Amino acid sequence: MRAAVLHGPGDLRVEEVAEPAGEVVVAVGAATACGTDRKMLRHGHRVLGPYPARFGHETAGVRLDTGERVLVSDSVACGACAPCRAGRGAICRAPTWVLGGFAERIAAPAAALHALPDGLELAAAASAEPLAACVHAVARAGRLPSAAAVLGGGTIGLMLARLLVLEGVEATVVDRHRERRAQARALGARAATELPPRELVLEAVGRPEAWRAAIAAAAPGATVVLVGGCPPGADAVLPAGPLHYDELDVRGAFHHTRADVERALALLGSGAIDASVILGDVIGLDGLAAALLAPAKGPARKPVVDPSLTG
Ligand SMILES: [Zn+2]
Ligand SMILES: [Zn+2]
Repeated sequence: MRAAVLHGPGDLRVEEVAEPAGEVVVAVGAATACGTDRKMLRHGHRVLGPYPARFGHETAGVRLDTGERVLVSDSVACGACAPCRAGRGAICRAPTWVLGGFAERIAAPAAALHALPDGLELAAAASAEPLAACVHAVARAGRLPSAAAVLGGGTIGLMLARLLVLEGVEATVVDRHRERRAQARALGARAATELPPRELVLEAVGRPEAWRAAIAAAAPGATVVLVGGCPPGADAVLPAGPLHYDELDVRGAFHHTRADVERALALLGSGAIDASVILGDVIGLDGLAAALLAPAKGPARKPVVDPSLTG
């Protein structure tokens, strides 16, 4: 079968590879791409394993054994480590990562699979993976205030804003791209170019300067949730004044639990979240490298890989 294979930083090749073997094999119908895939291609990533490595972690398709339509979650928590026993599978110490969605087929443990709501298209279903991380991040915020700010109008920031809007929160998305501010408004959020002081700030950029800006702009007593992961090895120098004198609660948010994924699929299945706002062009495996290396500009959209397409 054909698969996208990473051979080193910046080196993606589409190749014939052996058929995958595992508990369940899923024919990939749609694999959406995100900023993490861009990072994986450019720099590698701690969950990739040694080169040559397979990637693609937002994957939906059809089980070869039962014909059921499924989302292939990108991880299975171990269930035994201290965080897992405390109900915090998102920070499991020994997860099984399930990567390789950018291929015609993927093997996965049955525990990674989620049945899809009827009528939910595969591309939208694949986006349940990042949406689950957003569900998780909003839960990390705790009790929600009446108004919140989201720094970054990429696909994660937009999904965070939509979740807040669904909770009745007045959400303001802060982004310098006009097109992304328009997307935020289409989702029922407000949009701005400067962070307003809010009791809740969700950072969805993933750069130390954005972490700093989120903390600097938060209202006294606010909660700041850091959703965007910084580049490997990055240190963030944070403003000590507001952290101390304004008693800010700063919380990390990483990944998701199985329950977050189920919630994301339910939101997509009911139409409460319309993934088409953030889904981009449908491309074949051969178009993936160019899509991931293209400069980020214009509206925030996730490329959708359909491995059955050629050219
Ligand atoms: Zn992703
Ligand atoms: Zn665990």
